[in-house]
Amino acid sequence: MTRAGASLFLVLLAACVSAQTGNAPTFDSNRAWEHLRRQVSFGPRPSGSAAIAENRRYILEQLRAAGIEGRQQPFEAQTPLGPIKMVNVVATIPGSRRERIALATHFDTKLYRDFRFVGASDGASSTAVVLELGRLLAQRKNPYTIELLFFDGEEAVNEEWRDPDNRYGSKHYVEQARKAGSLAGLKALVLLDLVGDRNLNFRRESNSTPWLTDIIWATAKRLGYGEHFWYQQSPIEDDHIPFLRAGVPAVDLIDLDYPAWHTAQDTLDSVSARSLQIVGDVVLASMPEIEKRVASTK
Ligand SMILES: [Zn+2]
Repeated sequence: MTRAGASLFLVLLAACVSAQTGNAPTFDSNRAWEHLRRQVSFGPRPSGSAAIAENRRYILEQLRAAGIEGRQQPFEAQTPLGPIKMVNVVATIPGSRRERIALATHFDTKLYRDFRFVGASDGASSTAVVLELGRLLAQRKNPYTIELLFFDGEEAVNEEWRDPDNRYGSKHYVEQARKAGSLAGLKALVLLDLVGDRNLNFRRESNSTPWLTDIIWATAKRLGYGEHFWYQQSPIEDDHIPFLRAGVPAVDLIDLDYPAWHTAQDTLDSVSARSLQIVGDVVLASMPEIEKRVASTK
């Protein structure tokens, strides 16, 4: 190779390397924000409503656009208000192994009759982040199959949260997976809920599996987001509990320190694209560590 040839080679090599890093998919909070905004535009989305059906169509449409196969998991929930038809959405991004790592959210909003509740953070934010993460993970070569779980019926139908009136969708999924013999193939679950608060701060949810929480907190610190991830603990009942009870390692990333929680103020004004960015970055960057850990515990 001539000198000129060698330097041309180096220039080309540098171009390839930069093109490669340039192609590394990063979380796009503009896209996530648009997912959030669209869901809020459907209005209140309690289980069984026309608006939640619209929201579900939107989720399926967005999955399809990202080249991800989504299927509906319909069931009838027995609630204090009588039977309600609910539908989870389960999407699969095939990986090298059939064993799965799940990213989960709920997309129903709590039923209120005395005010208009649109759940910008409580329902829309986590669903928006999972959709955008799905788009990115579908472009990645995944060592494990990734499952995206969109639960219906997380919220209690009654004003008060009292078992068994809550988490209808996650309980149904776990029950079905157990019956189908596919629960053992689920190696870890990362649940997102209320991740849009413009004043974002997460406490470690104390029911969650410590190693999963540790990975997420360490990743947040590494990315310079440590100020949003506090070391205080607090226990929260959420969609991860049915999985924990079934022996699936699970973590709930939830910001319940949210003044607009379950109020008419849980609107676009109370959430921010920046918060979606932080959560998206942290979960995406946590994936290799989670995969490594899952691989080592086989
Ligand atoms: Zn809620």
